[in-house]
Amino acid sequence: MKGLVLLIVWTMSSLAAAFSFDNDVPKDIQNQMLADLKFIGTIQSDCSSDFHLKIFGKVDGRDYTHFFETRVLSIGLSDCGNPKAVACVNIFNPSKMWITNNFIKFSHPQVARMMIVFHESRHTESQNGNWMHATCPNPFLDENGKEIKSIWTGSSLAGEPACDITPFGSYGSSMIMLKNISKFCKNCSEKVRQDAGIYADDQFKRVIDADAIAAIKQDLYNGTEEVIEIGKY
Ligand SMILES: [Zn+2]
Repeated sequence: MKGLVLLIVWTMSSLAAAFSFDNDVPKDIQNQMLADLKFIGTIQSDCSSDFHLKIFGKVDGRDYTHFFETRVLSIGLSDCGNPKAVACVNIFNPSKMWITNNFIKFSHPQVARMMIVFHESRHTESQNGNWMHATCPNPFLDENGKEIKSIWTGSSLAGEPACDITPFGSYGSSMIMLKNISKFCKNCSEKVRQDAGIYADDQFKRVIDADAIAAIKQDLYNGTEEVIEIGKY
């Protein structure tokens, strides 16, 4: 009898971990996302940065899968109330992730799609105030005076709520994830590691607080300004 009760509890908890798609999410996008999550579940490494350990655990597919499946229970289609949005989470129903037409119509590498998915997964954390964004500077310029735009849509970000002031927010955490994959994934292709590095370095620009920037450099860039060349690790 005791065994039966345990079995039921186990079945329920494993069901709770699964997520579902709304019917209006196009089938090819559903399949793409399932394939992307399957890929992320295969990642292996021997090393993870301190911030990565704190946020996700190891640079390891099992830890990524656990992170996602304990946060996102369903995926739907929405415009997120903003034509520039790629995806969103509504804080009143935080276990649901919404993707927009921008997620669907732009073509980006697999690991970049996962960056969006894990960014949104971070927003499900009600206990952490959902890691709300900070407002980007206006104008929003890089060190060469060039305007920083969304790598996903090309939209202007100046004055938009599309930045972070902590390494642990959605932009910070997802760039930490991708930078770790770029540096430490031992079974990823060179293309995946390069893509991860490019998108991580791009999202790092969304972190606008000096202390947060210094902390991420300490964690992942050897404390230097220099972007670490892929393949050196
Ligand atoms: Zn966000």
